[in-house]
Amino acid sequence: MSSKNILSHSCEHLLAYAILNTYPHTLLGTDSKPHHNGFYYEVRLEKQLTTSDLTEIEKEMRRLISLSLNFYHFDLRHKEAISLFSLCKQIYKIEILKDIKSNSVSIYKCGNYFDLCRGPHIKNLNQIKEFKLLNISSSYWKSNKQNAILYRIAGMAFPSINDLNSYLKLLEESKKRDHRNLASSFDLFSASNPLIGAGLNIWLPNGAIIRSVIEDYLKKIHLLNGYNFVYSPHIASIDLWKTSGHWAYYKDSMYPPMCVDKSSYVLKPMNCPFHITAFKAHQHSYRDLPIRLAEFGTVYRYELPGVLHGLLRLRGFTQDDSHIFCEFSQIDLELRNIISLALTILKKFGFCKFEVTISTRPDKYIGTLKQWEIAEDSLKKAILYHNLKYSIDIGNGAFYGPKIDIKLKDSLNRLWQCSTIQLDFINALQFDINFINKHGKLEHPIIIHRALLGSFERFIGILIEEYAGAFPFWLAPEQIRILNISEKHISFSKSIESILKHEGFRVKTFLKNEPLSAKIRNAQTDKIPIVLIIGDKEISEKQVAIRLRNSSHLSMEINSLIAYLKQLE
Ligand SMILES: [Zn+2]
Ligand SMILES: [Zn+2]
Repeated sequence: MSSKNILSHSCEHLLAYAILNTYPHTLLGTDSKPHHNGFYYEVRLEKQLTTSDLTEIEKEMRRLISLSLNFYHFDLRHKEAISLFSLCKQIYKIEILKDIKSNSVSIYKCGNYFDLCRGPHIKNLNQIKEFKLLNISSSYWKSNKQNAILYRIAGMAFPSINDLNSYLKLLEESKKRDHRNLASSFDLFSASNPLIGAGLNIWLPNGAIIRSVIEDYLKKIHLLNGYNFVYSPHIASIDLWKTSGHWAYYKDSMYPPMCVDKSSYVLKPMNCPFHITAFKAHQHSYRDLPIRLAEFGTVYRYELPGVLHGLLRLRGFTQDDSHIFCEFSQIDLELRNIISLALTILKKFGFCKFEVTISTRPDKYIGTLKQWEIAEDSLKKAILYHNLKYSIDIGNGAFYGPKIDIKLKDSLNRLWQCSTIQLDFINALQFDINFINKHGKLEHPIIIHRALLGSFERFIGILIEEYAGAFPFWLAPEQIRILNISEKHISFSKSIESILKHEGFRVKTFLKNEPLSAKIRNAQTDKIPIVLIIGDKEISEKQVAIRLRNSSHLSMEINSLIAYLKQLE
């Protein structure tokens, strides 16, 4: 464990200790895996916990630090450990212990707090210099819906006050850009209407424009890259989900079935089974492969109420999903092309820093070892081909194939998971889809699942925060606003509006009877990329005065304006 992780992990114990002191009947659940400088602890409390309680807990954490307590390690026999945690009625710790098979159990003690842990920790609590509790969310014990809901309290530890301060600055900047706050002022979306239901979003007019512009762009570039689009329904018979394995392995994330004509139907949590069925509509030969089926497919997943977060985490969202059916020997080239497409698309939105992870073979897997080796090697080669670095998440692949995740870094250096490219050796077998190979025999294709933006909702949420409402010209819902200086300039303004509309631009004339300065201020607040000002001079010279978002000015006649705007798209 790195020293940063040790500090963070120790702070997590400090948090548990402070909660126990503040709320003595707290039941401790599990803590987080060490991850950079973030940590969390899951606890069960009778009391309703709110963010204002975090200050109280932080205060107690500071008090404990000031006592300069040491961490002590000791081992207990399994039975003794059970008695110890039974004494203080820590039922979740006992449950964890029951899953531990070894005879001896490692315990750490600090003051009168003790916990199950293998360590390592800092020596003394006074080594914790700075920390901050960040938020509370909720999760089911062991992620099982049948179990009780626990609070997950998350925080961060920092090696110095400077690190804490720069983090707080980042938080403040993130808050200013929070897409949920910008949603209504920019008429973008409404994702928290209780009458509609938790986690279900409506795109308001401006948000709907952004989404459709992105859809158009994606559609075009996918067609150019040899994809074919399909459409599939939002619900399907439960038998489909049994065949795909979702009902056995993914049920907890699905909406419950509804009964129609004595059959059960379920809202779709994924698009894969539909695309596989679409592939099966014909008998294919190796000459047809690869077949790339794409869909902007809306899926519904049950997410815990506590994790729903604006557009970033919804229960209904639309993926830019595709499934590629190919021969094993075609994997290399397909992966290379998918990454190339992902990078082209993400760069179009201005992102150029990425972090790539490969998740490799878990302990339980299907397919042959040889297949996995070749597949993992293909993933690495494809990433290196694009001069990207990658890290490996050993054993964290799905049991049916390894995958690549691409995270993008935004201008605040925050990482966002976007593209996923997943190899799949099993679904072709489960659905018994095949093609006729070169030797005239039936063979199962390999399936590559891939979503490049992830979902429109989440990606646009990221974009709103990245641009803080100032969308680039090609995405801006209102690209051009025409301001007339006085009433006598209305008809010329309207004629310019009509010309630009016919050229395909999103343009509005702002006719309110207000002073020009107020209209300009308004356009600035609305972050309109291009403002055209029409007065006597413009009409007599058949020109338009242009004001850009950065307040610089240009002047040109209408044909040059059209050419200028076209190169902005
Ligand atoms: Zn520990
Ligand atoms: Zn899929």
